[in-house]
Amino acid sequence: MAPDYTRRLGFASGECYDRNDSLAIEDPELASLLQSESRRQRESVTLVASENFSSPRVRALEGSLLGDKNAEGYPGKRCVAGCEHVDAIEALAIARLKALFGCEHANVQAMSATIANVALLQAVLKPGDAILSMRLADGGHLSHGAPFHVSGQLYHVQHYGVSETTEQIDMDRVRDIAAQVRPKLIICGGSSYPRNIDYAAFAEVAKETDALIWADIAHVAGLMAARVVPSAVPHAHFVTSSTHKTWRGPRGGAVLMCRQEWGYAVDRAIFPGIQGAPKMDMIAARAALFKETAEPEFVQYSKAVLENANALAEGLLQEGVRLVSGGTDTHLLLADVTRFGLSGLDAERLLMEIGVTANKNVIPFDKRPPSSSSGVRMGSAAMTTRGLGPSEFLRIGTMVGTLLRRPDNSAYRIRAKADLAEMLEGLPLFSPRWLSAPSRSSRG
Ligand SMILES: *Cc1c(COP(=O)(O)O)cnc(C)c1O
Repeated sequence: MAPDYTRRLGFASGECYDRNDSLAIEDPELASLLQSESRRQRESVTLVASENFSSPRVRALEGSLLGDKNAEGYPGKRCVAGCEHVDAIEALAIARLKALFGCEHANVQAMSATIANVALLQAVLKPGDAILSMRLADGGHLSHGAPFHVSGQLYHVQHYGVSETTEQIDMDRVRDIAAQVRPKLIICGGSSYPRNIDYAAFAEVAKETDALIWADIAHVAGLMAARVVPSAVPHAHFVTSSTHKTWRGPRGGAVLMCRQEWGYAVDRAIFPGIQGAPKMDMIAARAALFKETAEPEFVQYSKAVLENANALAEGLLQEGVRLVSGGTDTHLLLADVTRFGLSGLDAERLLMEIGVTANKNVIPFDKRPPSSSSGVRMGSAAMTTRGLGPSEFLRIGTMVGTLLRRPDNSAYRIRAKADLAEMLEGLPLFSPRWLSAPSRSSRG
């Protein structure tokens, strides 16, 4: 049977799995699993803060024929012939990324942010060097020196955390610890920290203590690219990010930005230090993402993400849910469910019963282990992509809050589930609202 490329592209766009009957004929087992996942995504209120839905344009490139090309090396310096077109694609991705963030040097080959982070550590440090990063429970990331991660095993790791009263980073405390530890590298940016980070203050501490500063912007990168939250780039020697959270690309793919003087070391650390050949389809998809990010619709989208996170917070607060740090400056909220007699895991399961997907998460000074934890992390990026607005987010917040308050009320659960299903009825995964108008994007 001749392959149907139109269908394949439609399939890649994520909206047409159900109609992909050639896969159903060729591999019914896989087709049925894909269909189930498609249904799950459509029918869930996705509040997982690290998920999003990428645009059809971006999705069509990921998995395209570019993925078959071996392009080991960097543009102009490959180990394999026939790279002239993929060289131009990678150069385009780099140029777009540099323009977007105003950074001096960029690398787009890392397969994930965790790998980019490990490469960065290798580029900058020797084993045993001291690093200072945010505690995992206070919002940090495992690749910032967790004992079970390679970053925690190779380096001498010290942590700072949030203040017990504000649950926000206490810069005076960071300054004191840095003066004691004299780290070579200070890391800021996290996975469950709902507030803006004062990158300028971190840069000051780094200057005083003769340290280098690394901002990991994986969660807020899209918001930062759209300039609706403050940028880390002017203040940090290094910036790493994934491209699939608020940045709205598919998973996999990360960027590493740095000052010019570190460019060579950073590139060498990714290849040949850690990775082999890059995935050129992934890099092309990121080039498309970077163009999309520069379009006015993405700025509108990012503003909507912030507005919706605030509406979600308001709904939760109305129902008496305690939010870590009292609220949010970003897409991300961390709810403390202790006062309802629930663990984070209980809450995660309860939410699933009304069709809301989120994740249990440790909170600062958590008394429970990570496997159950006391918090639930939520984010507005994915459902904003589907086109929901502040009134819907407010309603989701009050419904989640009511559910947490009355976990035993099964009549309410049934009603809430039906209400949410109705809210999602007919919504595509990627709202046409965020597709750039052809006339506008052709301005060049
Ligand atoms: C999500 C995240 C990462 C890891 O991204 P992957 O692409 O999943 O490896 C790294 N750092 C931070 C702060 C994150 O939130």
